[in-house]
Amino acid sequence: MKLYSTKNRKHVVSLKEAVMKGLPPDNGLYMPERIPSLPKTFIKNLSKYSFQEIAFEVSKTLLQGCIPQKDLKKIIEKSVTFPAPVVPLDESKSVLELFHGPSLAFKDFGARFMAQLMSYFNKGEKQELVILVATSGDTGGAVASGFYKTPGVKVVILYPSGKVSFLQEKQLTTLGENISAIEVKGTFDDCQAMVKQAFLDKELNSNIRLSSANSINIARLIPQMFYYFEAFKQLSPKGRDVVFCVPSGNFGNLTAGLIAKRMGLPISHFIAATNANDVVPEYIKKGKFSPRSSVRTISNAMDVGNPSNFARMMDLHGSTWNHLKKEISGLAFDDKETRQGVKEVFDNFNYTIDPHGAVGYLALKEFQETNPNTLGVVLETAHPSKFLDDMENILQSKIEIPKRLASLIDKPKEAALMNRKFNTFKEWLLENY
Ligand SMILES: *Cc1c(COP(=O)(O)O)cnc(C)c1O
Repeated sequence: MKLYSTKNRKHVVSLKEAVMKGLPPDNGLYMPERIPSLPKTFIKNLSKYSFQEIAFEVSKTLLQGCIPQKDLKKIIEKSVTFPAPVVPLDESKSVLELFHGPSLAFKDFGARFMAQLMSYFNKGEKQELVILVATSGDTGGAVASGFYKTPGVKVVILYPSGKVSFLQEKQLTTLGENISAIEVKGTFDDCQAMVKQAFLDKELNSNIRLSSANSINIARLIPQMFYYFEAFKQLSPKGRDVVFCVPSGNFGNLTAGLIAKRMGLPISHFIAATNANDVVPEYIKKGKFSPRSSVRTISNAMDVGNPSNFARMMDLHGSTWNHLKKEISGLAFDDKETRQGVKEVFDNFNYTIDPHGAVGYLALKEFQETNPNTLGVVLETAHPSKFLDDMENILQSKIEIPKRLASLIDKPKEAALMNRKFNTFKEWLLENY
């Protein structure tokens, strides 16, 4: 497998370089040079494969031998460690639950696979790899647990003091081992600036091997394809077209679905569901892409005003609006509608859906009004207990916190409290690594 930059098809790199660097120097995004098709018999016989076997077959075909099969198998075994069940709401709508991982959101799939790939590519290096992550709360937890106890890799997470939820902070600060947390007296932007400056600092980079766990790393996209196949396996379409509805922010999840389709999964259509941050639905409707600042919503993991994977979506459609809008519909819903969606799903189907999933549900419902004979799957991207206050407010009832999260409550927090000066951070890094 080779990858090119979306800004320059002649800039071609190996998988190792794409994974370890994250971003091409021209600020494009890495894309596979070729997307091979899976054998038709594999698609037909999906039900005979376990989730891990599906992940293995899909990645083996896409990576085309750049990782030996026995190593790839190990990587899958260590990263695909929890299920992705499809739960039917009614005859035509189902929910694909992607929240059964340690941080209760689908980002666990990407983070775990990326951690394993980085550790694999780092083998044989004498110096350990130090991964810097700035987080506003959510991604940090998935990355921290993804890299937990990964040999040869240390992780430093910077988060803004007092600006992440109690449980999010516990996810970042209670792991120990190779994971360190820094509580920055500042904002998320301060944390991000400190990380950015670290990559530019000559002295740091000559002493420590630094890397990032960037959200647009191709290694996070690849495993997000696996669960589209896994979902398909669990459906009985009975001749109906299968439609995936993806609650979206940076559009990584939806892009992974597009690539799964290119590899041969017979998905008939995609629905891009967003909250008030509707840059992509607007593009699909009008053909004009106008990125802007994000606005805050109750589905806050989708509060993105300039979706980073848009470049990949366009690339997959030969950069033409006409192609893209044939394959993807876009629908947006505000917070009021989202709250109603949460309530409606609970009242009608006795299912507790989180605000992100509710945006997806509303989009699927609207789509099916004009496309009635379809089988729709909404990606439920997070567990409802991650948004406890809003959920309990909407449903006026208690939401259960899963054990794996509740067990963190009593664990002691360990974090280095730090001002937002780059030099303090730099000295800390030089002292500790
Ligand atoms: C990150 C996230 C999203 C958005 O996913 P993208 O791949 O960025 O579109 C949706 N829901 C939840 C809960 C998330 O954490």
